[in-house]
Amino acid sequence: MRLPIDPATVKGFLSVEEGAALFALARECARIGPIVEIGSYCGKSAVYLGAAAKEVGATVFTVDHHRGSEEHQPGWAYFDPSLWDDAAQAPDSSAALRETLRRADLEDTVITVIGRSEIVGRIWAAPLGLLFLDGGHSRAQAFADYEAWASHLAPGGVMAIHDVFADPADGGRPPFEVFEAAKASGEFDDLGMAGSLARLRRRA
Ligand code: SAH
Ligand code: MG
Repeated sequence: MRLPIDPATVKGFLSVEEGAALFALARECARIGPIVEIGSYCGKSAVYLGAAAKEVGATVFTVDHHRGSEEHQPGWAYFDPSLWDDAAQAPDSSAALRETLRRADLEDTVITVIGRSEIVGRIWAAPLGLLFLDGGHSRAQAFADYEAWASHLAPGGVMAIHDVFADPADGGRPPFEVFEAAKASGEFDDLGMAGSLARLRRRA
């Protein structure tokens, strides 16, 4: 795996093991269709996805409203005052994402989409090779993302879900519940875990 910049220099929430798994999936699944990521934040995962996509001439779309999830709001565990937008009185990670993509020379490979994932997902039409779900982790948002996007996966395409914890002591439930719902749908084959990254392939 060759990366254009050190992902440790990008703020975010992804281990090297999970990043390497995303890189491998992106390289493989780009043959099937474009890659969509829900939850860009400052672009840590986008560096892995984008680096792999660039090697094979593929395109990544990364979707985020950039106003942060619950845990990024003031008073919550992952609030970052350096990402505060005073005019909006809300977080704004969009400039940080853009700077990451510029530094990594990925601006023609990773296309940023600024907006609510469920709005974009409703209008999206291209069958996807890889869908990476890493947006809002409330139950309502996690399921809204799954419902808006999973149906866009091409046969053989892979859905990767971040922050899937079988043990509630390790983290919140909704991503795990989405994973369980997807398996129960009978539409996917389980490819196993890499860290907290679950991987499911849509049956042909
Ligand atoms: N993938 C990133 C981490 C994403 S954090 C990394 O590698 O570091 C989750 C992101 O989801 C936040 O930036 C938040 O703004 C975004 N988000 C939460 N709810 C959303 C929604 N409904 N639509 C779009 N983005 C959303
Ligand atoms: Mg995550």
